[in-house]
Amino acid sequence: MSLLTVGTVAFDAIETPFGKTDRIIGGAATYIALASSYFSKPINMVSVIGDDFPEDALDTLRQHGANTNGIQVRPGEKSFFWSGRYHNDMNTRDTLATELNVLADFDPKVPEAYRDCEFLMLGNLTPAVQMAVIDQIPNRPKLVVLDTMNFWMDTALDELKTVIAKTDVLTINDEEARQLSGEYSLVKAAQSILKMGPRHLVIKKGEHGALLFNEQSVFFAPALPLEVVFDPTGAGDSFAGGFIGYLASTRDISFENMKRAIIFGSAMASFCVEKFGTERLIGLTQDEIDDRVQDFIDLVQFDISLVNN
Ligand code: AMP
Repeated sequence: MSLLTVGTVAFDAIETPFGKTDRIIGGAATYIALASSYFSKPINMVSVIGDDFPEDALDTLRQHGANTNGIQVRPGEKSFFWSGRYHNDMNTRDTLATELNVLADFDPKVPEAYRDCEFLMLGNLTPAVQMAVIDQIPNRPKLVVLDTMNFWMDTALDELKTVIAKTDVLTINDEEARQLSGEYSLVKAAQSILKMGPRHLVIKKGEHGALLFNEQSVFFAPALPLEVVFDPTGAGDSFAGGFIGYLASTRDISFENMKRAIIFGSAMASFCVEKFGTERLIGLTQDEIDDRVQDFIDLVQFDISLVNN
């Protein structure tokens, strides 16, 4: 199934209450590609890096079924760098640094062979770049999913709204939904955001799960209560990767199937947070994924007989 993703391929430096990393491999497209690789291959990646980015990290992506030909390498330049510090609740974080570096003037080129994509995952990066990728796809994909963050709402809101209008599913967190809509209630926020164009909205609430809205319905998926949450970085991207990977593998974009996709996305996010960076997303087995999804099923299954039913 043809799945194309654009997003950052980057270095991150992360501080959590459990420890601190130097520069490690990160980036939205990195997490998306790894998470979606367990459902759908190949994953065609479009991004940009400097010549400081290690070849073995690209190898790991390729071993997971990613095509990395669409990742431009800029000699003598530095890769995107992000640094963040998590609060004690691990649900909120402060961005300490965002160095755009190669991203500052990135002009994406979607390779010819990627252009017939059916599933397009616009991972977090400059809205104008996300738009430039949409513009290079001649036939509208079956599904366009957009992930973004407050940084772009603060710095490029008009461009972001243009991209939002072109997408089918928008995924953002609860604070971002409030910022984008100006509404405190998430139900009102969803109503207002759905008027901006997308038919579906996923609001991620970290350890409190995720909500899927369309105009008529809402579905809630919990997050798995985990013994260890080590590093939430990339959880949103892993969620998005699992979500679109599952939809691409089933080719079914109904609301009912999106409910299942949300559970697969949540399962991938739950793996991601168990170790620093991308470590836990590398080399997962099908049994591990199946067991994790079963944990989600068990978590929310209950029997009730209502007197009047
Ligand atoms: P998440 O925790 O899912 O929101 O994603 C974290 C990843 O997003 C990190 O690996 C960062 O490299 C990347 N990231 C952070 N800020 C930005 C930004 N402004 N644009 C694109 N990617 C970003």
